[in-house]
Amino acid sequence: MHKQKGILFILSGPSGVGKGTVRERLFEVETQLKYSVSATTRDKRPGEVHGSDYHFKEHSEFEKMIENDELLEHAKYVNNYYGTPRDYVESELEAGNDVFLEIEVQGALQVKENFSEGVFIFLFPPSLDELKKRIVNRGTESPELVRNRLNEARKEIEMMHNYDYVVVNDNVDYAVQKIKSIIVSEHCKRERIEEQYKKIMKADDFNVRTIN
Ligand code: 5GP
Repeated sequence: MHKQKGILFILSGPSGVGKGTVRERLFEVETQLKYSVSATTRDKRPGEVHGSDYHFKEHSEFEKMIENDELLEHAKYVNNYYGTPRDYVESELEAGNDVFLEIEVQGALQVKENFSEGVFIFLFPPSLDELKKRIVNRGTESPELVRNRLNEARKEIEMMHNYDYVVVNDNVDYAVQKIKSIIVSEHCKRERIEEQYKKIMKADDFNVRTIN
């Protein structure tokens, strides 16, 4: 069989829901998935590595990437730009690899406009109290930033109806297991494999007339 195009998975959800933690744990066990490293203009946090956590950019550099149409999506989030480099995603999908994005909700909506065949997973907090605690306890930002993030989170929860799957993050390992199951299920979807089979059926070597 020809190698099929890869599937684009988009993990999104409210700020502070634990997307980063779930994504990191997922990549400890999923060796086939390709993670798309985002570009951002926000400051590097302690321990973060340029090129593997983010491609850290100056505002002017980021704006140039937007101008040159180098981003599949981008969003301004709490006064900083975040975006997905287009080349990496498109070439990995073309090579038959699954690509995984972990992005906020405005960006996920833009991806949906360009890649409606993507699989959109909404990570949901176990409770709203818990979400608030996680945002407040992150401790690396000013009270004003925390307030902004809480505001964003409220708006983001209302976006759930744009997604294909909802995963409640009450336990990281369990959430990861659910995402792995979604990946397997999507590969078994009839709509995705049907085209391949149609090609095989049309090919000469599968045609009764060629048997002698
Ligand atoms: P943080 O600054 O905490 O790393 O990320 C803030 C938010 O930006 C998170 O919700 C994260 O998922 C999101 N984010 C990270 N990369 C991208 C991206 O490339 N595009 C968009 N739209 N959001 C992103």
